[in-house]
Amino acid sequence: MLACTGFAAQSADAKLAPFSFERRDPGPNDVQIDIAYCGVCHSDIHTARSEWGAANYPVVPGHEIVGTVAAVGAEVSGFKVGDTVGVGCMVDSCRTCASCKEGLEQYCENGFTGTYNDPDKKLPGKFTQGGYSKLIVVDQSFVLRVPEKLELAAVAPLLCAGITTYSPLHHWKVGPGQKVGIVGLGGLGHMGLKIAHAMGADVTLFTTSPGKADDARRLGANHVVISKDEEQMKSQARSFDFILDCVSAKHDINAYLALLKRDGTLVQVGAPSEPLPVQVFSLIFPRRHFAGSLIGGIAETQEMLDFCAKHDIVSDIEMIDIDQINEAYERVINSDVKYRFVIDMKSLAAA
Ligand code: NAP
Ligand code: ZN
Ligand code: ZN
Repeated sequence: MLACTGFAAQSADAKLAPFSFERRDPGPNDVQIDIAYCGVCHSDIHTARSEWGAANYPVVPGHEIVGTVAAVGAEVSGFKVGDTVGVGCMVDSCRTCASCKEGLEQYCENGFTGTYNDPDKKLPGKFTQGGYSKLIVVDQSFVLRVPEKLELAAVAPLLCAGITTYSPLHHWKVGPGQKVGIVGLGGLGHMGLKIAHAMGADVTLFTTSPGKADDARRLGANHVVISKDEEQMKSQARSFDFILDCVSAKHDINAYLALLKRDGTLVQVGAPSEPLPVQVFSLIFPRRHFAGSLIGGIAETQEMLDFCAKHDIVSDIEMIDIDQINEAYERVINSDVKYRFVIDMKSLAAA
């Protein structure tokens, strides 16, 4: 076993604190990665605080991981020591169900293995532990190649925020001539803006934070709507082909359904712990669609990284040391991050 250190939550109301644990020795198909940077996703907070149901403590969060290959197993073909790689939200899946065979491991019918807080099939009785840590051992099928030209720390958030917004924008064929809305300018929302803009759509940001309007335009928005202003919202009625909702807390979804054209689609990626009640008439009259989308498959994640390299897209980040993580969580909850915290994992040694 490999000794590892990280930061873990020990309970729903405990602050994250240093934690020592073990990783498995790399098997024939495994890649051992020294973690350089890890992004801070709002899902880390939902999980660490048991907002989506009881977590398996201690939990080391973190599923926006980039680093350098330190060792490879005998059967590993695509990676060698020294390569720059990434790991996102999944570290395994059944590989035999219809979804896995289609490359949609995130919809694995037998349940994929999350990067943290899931039973670890390779270490029975233990749970997977994420990227707020020194190193990780991952099957080669779940390791991504990071394009060399991109700034490494700013690539980390692509592994969750990037793919979670790319996948629905790509699946619903967003492109030129379409009016697209992005709701919420946080980690996911700012990647959604950049990617929808690069896909050629006319993009509107909906925000509760008037102070983010200038940034939104810089990040790719053609228009900004302050969602608390009813008049501004009404002026957009029935005008959108597609809206991507990236909001982490309870809000009125019907206000956004009303902005869709006939046959338009609202896709929910934000995952508040409370239900979002839908007024059925918002859907029935103009035949609108309300859908959801979960991260993205491994092949699609590689496609997204290559798309971002082609379009020079990375995340806008605020770099922190690991001992600032609890303060960072409070700022994320207060919608006060521009636009993703990334932990410099070198700081772990001093913590
Ligand atoms: P984040 O950085 O905290 O961004 C959320 C944004 O939502 C905020 O910046 C804010 O934007 C807006 N917001 C927050 N509270 C609000 C409220 N009460 N009413 C209206 N708007 C509010 O979070 P994130 O990391 O981007 O994640 C967003 C959500 O997606 C989380 O629930 C996360 O768990 C989920 N998620 C889902 C997937 C998936 O596969 N579907 C993957 C990753 C994350 P403004 O200031 O602009 O209003
Ligand atoms: Zn995430
Ligand atoms: Zn499967």
